[in-house]
Amino acid sequence: MMYSEAILDYANSKRFRGKLDDATVIEEGKNISCGDEITLYLKVEDGVVKDAKFEGMGCVISQASASLMLERIVGERVEEIFSLIEEAEKMSRGENFDEGKLKNVTLMSDIKNYPARVKCFILAWKTLKEALKKISRS
Ligand code: ZN
Repeated sequence: MMYSEAILDYANSKRFRGKLDDATVIEEGKNISCGDEITLYLKVEDGVVKDAKFEGMGCVISQASASLMLERIVGERVEEIFSLIEEAEKMSRGENFDEGKLKNVTLMSDIKNYPARVKCFILAWKTLKEALKKISRS
């Protein structure tokens, strides 16, 4: 179920909310079809995401997705995160994906049954991808 208690908890969680004063990369993303907005703050050092937070507003799916995503990626290497992004994209399209890699993110695997909401789910991941591309270019 897309609106389970666990998903609502993630959407309302304050754990990853707010600005990160020592962020090394900041990226904004919007999902116009739903009005969801997200600003990601990442602190990347030595190729590892050491810390991350987000600010945003929008539907439960978009906010829960950002919260779950940050829980999953903090402490991971940038190259590994690129492959997590691919797995999350596959999950959202209903393709086979690596559950062992995505871990907590699989809580939202039902998203494939709500095609109209896939953009809400993928917003955080898309924004993350843009943010990490900036780093690998620098
Ligand atoms: Zn939305």
